[in-house]
Amino acid sequence: MKSFLGSFVNLAFAVAAQLAGAVATPEFLAYMDYFIRKEYGDDYYLHVDDVVDLSMHSRTIDKVITDGFEQVVYCLNEPAGARNFQSIFWNIAYFDKPYFEGMFEDFVFPDGSPMIWESVNWLQKRFMKWFNAERKRALLTFPVETVNLLDNGIDFVDQEWADYAAEMWSEGHSFFMYRSDSVDSLASCCRLRNEVQDNQFSYTLGAGGVSTGSKCVMTLNINRIVQETFAEHKDEYGWTRSTFWDEGYENRIIILNEVIAEQVSRVHDYLKAFNTILMDRYHAGLIPLYDAGFVNPERQYLTVGINGLIEAAEFLGCAITSDGIHYKTFVNNVLSVIHTLNVMNRTKECMFNCEYVPAENLGVKNATWDAKDGLFVPRKCYNSYFYLVEDEHTNPIDKFIMHGKEFTQFLDGGSALHCNLDEHLTKEQYRKLMQIAIKTGCPYFTFNIPNTVCRDCGHISKHMLKKCPKCGSENLDWATRVIGYLKLISSFSEARQKEAALRYYAGGIDAET
Ligand SMILES: [Zn+2]
Repeated sequence: MKSFLGSFVNLAFAVAAQLAGAVATPEFLAYMDYFIRKEYGDDYYLHVDDVVDLSMHSRTIDKVITDGFEQVVYCLNEPAGARNFQSIFWNIAYFDKPYFEGMFEDFVFPDGSPMIWESVNWLQKRFMKWFNAERKRALLTFPVETVNLLDNGIDFVDQEWADYAAEMWSEGHSFFMYRSDSVDSLASCCRLRNEVQDNQFSYTLGAGGVSTGSKCVMTLNINRIVQETFAEHKDEYGWTRSTFWDEGYENRIIILNEVIAEQVSRVHDYLKAFNTILMDRYHAGLIPLYDAGFVNPERQYLTVGINGLIEAAEFLGCAITSDGIHYKTFVNNVLSVIHTLNVMNRTKECMFNCEYVPAENLGVKNATWDAKDGLFVPRKCYNSYFYLVEDEHTNPIDKFIMHGKEFTQFLDGGSALHCNLDEHLTKEQYRKLMQIAIKTGCPYFTFNIPNTVCRDCGHISKHMLKKCPKCGSENLDWATRVIGYLKLISSFSEARQKEAALRYYAGGIDAET
């Protein structure tokens, strides 16, 4: 187990040095389980209190395991020299039983043995509990965790895991949930399949696919495209912002769609060119990650990113609400144009998808460039959600609707709902919101409750406080998830700090904090 964990850390650094993006190891815990079983038997999880260490520490199996977690997590949160001293963006995944079986039923270890659900199940839960507790001692950013749950359209299939996830949220843990009513949606990107599915949705944002992801992302600034098209047609067709949705709007939408389609086709061409160069290097044996089989270039996507979508809708006078009919029409038009072309232009070597990208830096850059050119720019950092982060009238249920089927049905690469709350809910309340995720068809979401870090005594609280409960200091910082990973607000870029301050946390706490 120790050798495995040590090699794993080295491998993660070696892989990350060759990539700009995230390093996702969804099977990390399933592999670790194998090595624990080698040492303490297949039923180790049934007697974790056995003392197995003859040193002065007299450690139990449980302690040996959590020490292993500690080693990997603390090492991987260290700065990486080969990445400009940024940490590795490390993702892991938890699977419920149906997903685990769907993903790994054909998998065998080199000795021919299969994975075992019972012990992996225990280890997944143990890691989650340990990580949540450890985050009270240190602000650990990575791994970003995703719980993958299958549902039948009404409720979750694996009730044990649905309950456990709700319990972990209620205990203040922070993680993403991916839900779907098909095992294929996750497994299809992980297993080689002969048939090409017409409607293959693949989340490249971090849900649990194995050896997949995105090869390259090129992002469209929808706000600029819309406004430039608008300016072009203003005089000729008499377009005005206040009358865009009046009679005959269908024709105006068709014109917008044509311009967007043209841009998407160009992006596809650039991505194809990128892919040709990449495959050339691959066939010349110059990409060790591919040669070693850690990533499969044939399962990776070329991604059309979008940014400035909500701002474009605002420009066109849409009310950004869950029942905003113009807003919904606009979003579905833009996304269906991209989705149709993604399917149409797919070749054997090139699969395209579309992602509502987090745009950590690009959201600020686009807003700055557009403002400089005199365009309508409603905020200093373009939103990466389907709702307005600063809008106090958007309640959590509206947010689920706006990240649900009605808005995201054509978004084949994913978006993440960050449901900001100012206080933790109970297990039952989270369970209800998970149910709402099924009902609204929201596939990928998380809850954000800012943690408070005392600058004087170092105390970390899972709550959003204005006073340190330990020493009474008001010299505080808050940690939240602005893009996908947990970080101190004071460590964000300046524009992101301002955006974080504007965020509305449901429950009514003063947003100025
Ligand atoms: Zn304190």
